[in-house]
Amino acid sequence: MNMENGINLFDKISNNNHEQLHYCSNNELGLKAIIGIHDTTLGPAIGGARMWNYVSEEAALKDVLRLSRAMTLKSSLAGLNAGGGKAVIIGDIKLKNENFIKKYASFVNNLNGIYWTAQDVNISAQDMIWMKEITPYVVGMPIKQGGLGDSSAPTAYGIYLGMKAAAKFVYGSDSLEGKKIAIQGVGKVGEKLVDFLIKEKAYIYISDINNSILKSLSKTKKLKIFKNDDLFSLDIDVFSPCALGSIINTKSINQLNCKIIAGAANNQLEDDKIHDKELKAKGITYVPDFLINAGGIISVYHEQIQDLNKEKVFKMTEGIYSKVTEVLSLSERNNISTNESAMKIALDRINLKKKSL
Ligand code: NAD
Repeated sequence: MNMENGINLFDKISNNNHEQLHYCSNNELGLKAIIGIHDTTLGPAIGGARMWNYVSEEAALKDVLRLSRAMTLKSSLAGLNAGGGKAVIIGDIKLKNENFIKKYASFVNNLNGIYWTAQDVNISAQDMIWMKEITPYVVGMPIKQGGLGDSSAPTAYGIYLGMKAAAKFVYGSDSLEGKKIAIQGVGKVGEKLVDFLIKEKAYIYISDINNSILKSLSKTKKLKIFKNDDLFSLDIDVFSPCALGSIINTKSINQLNCKIIAGAANNQLEDDKIHDKELKAKGITYVPDFLINAGGIISVYHEQIQDLNKEKVFKMTEGIYSKVTEVLSLSERNNISTNESAMKIALDRINLKKKSL
């Protein structure tokens, strides 16, 4: 029996009803990857591959299990006929080259379409092109290669609309004019979110570990820069995490001065069974990440079904506004956390489908 730190691997998989877990290895190339397939009731599992130098294999396993489950919930809430999966490639990105990526793609190919891989942290557009040479089960391709291109535009649009829906719920109006909004991480999504918020005449605060991004943005746009450490001294309406996961934990919840959390980063809650309730107790309206950042999966899903229509992607992304309203209302009605409410709606759809099979 496979034991990991004394814990049966099957227990870990069955804890959150994962269907399959694939360990992939190639000694010659130094490739170690885990592909997690959480649930395929609604359709083939879709989710990105990320490469990360995890501190331990245990940490990589934890990440792939959590991320693949979030993909199931995300696709279900977005109304897609897709399941949840994710791949983690373990190691320094210096290991990455054409053969390495193509070997990873051959493992994906062997799964025969039960898992479709996409781009995530440390996987480039070139990597995607190499993967597609080996397997058709790749989505999130550049436009030139027949895909819908960078998904950060629909993702940012969804974050913006979800934030407005949360504002309507909390303040009675969805206008963000005059609202103080702090965005942590102004990369591909964060920067596009800034543009939506400027049009709304919000007061925008930004932080990033990349100083050159901060400099170039603040030269052309009216923004205030904050250091991550100063986030807690800001009195703001909305905190928008657009960089890292696990940013919301007991320590940060105690210190945060905001009414709403609405951002793009995956796995924002360090522990989704504890910190959602702590946010509720503090009166902070948390918009679950897997609900609000679905613009990207909506885009790659349209590639998977070969409906390469950007307008349709943005139209479907607009559904995030009403879904956020539904989730927040259910949470209030049933006196449960917003995370529990979003999970209930996502799982109800999956269970309904299971019953009809
Ligand atoms: P990105 O890599 O383009 O941008 C991330 C930015 O965060 C970078 O500018 C980076 O310098 C900054 N950053 C990193 N660590 C930081 C820290 N400690 N403090 C402040 N800034 C920090 O990524 P992106 O595509 O903009 O995605 C942002 C987040 O949203 C990621 O967590 C990603 O997984 C998630 N997400 C993205 C998409 C998408 O379509 N791009 C979809 C769903 C979820």
